[in-house]
Amino acid sequence: MDNLEAGQSRYLLPALPYDHAALEPYIDARTMMLHHDKHHASYVANLNSAVAKYPELRERTATWLLLNLSKIPEEARTAVRNNAGGHVNHSMLWRAMAPDGGGEPTGALADAIKRDFGSFGQFRVRFAEAGEKLFGSGWVWLARVQKDGGKLEVFTTSGHDNPLMRGHFPLLVNDVWEHAYYLKHENRRADYLKGWWAVANWKEAARRYELSDDSAEQEQEGEGGHLLKAAD
Ligand code: MN
Repeated sequence: MDNLEAGQSRYLLPALPYDHAALEPYIDARTMMLHHDKHHASYVANLNSAVAKYPELRERTATWLLLNLSKIPEEARTAVRNNAGGHVNHSMLWRAMAPDGGGEPTGALADAIKRDFGSFGQFRVRFAEAGEKLFGSGWVWLARVQKDGGKLEVFTTSGHDNPLMRGHFPLLVNDVWEHAYYLKHENRRADYLKGWWAVANWKEAARRYELSDDSAEQEQEGEGGHLLKAAD
């Protein structure tokens, strides 16, 4: 349990694991600056505000809040859902990309993708199509579902909902809110999704695939330990 003083911020913006310009030319520095330093920061600030008067909630991780919305007072529930989701999802997103990303997964994750999608190429088509077709603001995910022996699936969520809310374990994510691409690509979301493969962090996806096998690790993930730790 934390010993938070009244008014102290509970939730903190994690550092980007690389410079704003590190994902150029696929993601431009100005987009990264606004996306992390302004958009993500605002979700963190709004989450702190939403739970400010609930000491029992301020002891919980952002992921716990997202997974226990029925326990949140009704007047704060929507703000907690939107902003805890925004915080958790963006914390995952920064690590789902890397300056030395791209290429293809290897090892057990590569085998699972081949098993469940037919090939890496077919997986990419599914992921891109899902991201392109999502109406409005949301996220596209590769996740391990907790049925069918842990099959992998591609799906989207609206707003800032996270697959953990459906009991699915996210491996790789991309943000398809307009703020993620509009400065550089304007209305051309498909172009952004196409370029994004060059920065997709398969090492991080493989790490998450490994820990998706371990319920103790998943428990820790549920409490945000892996999601929200500071960048290496
Ligand atoms: Mn975003």
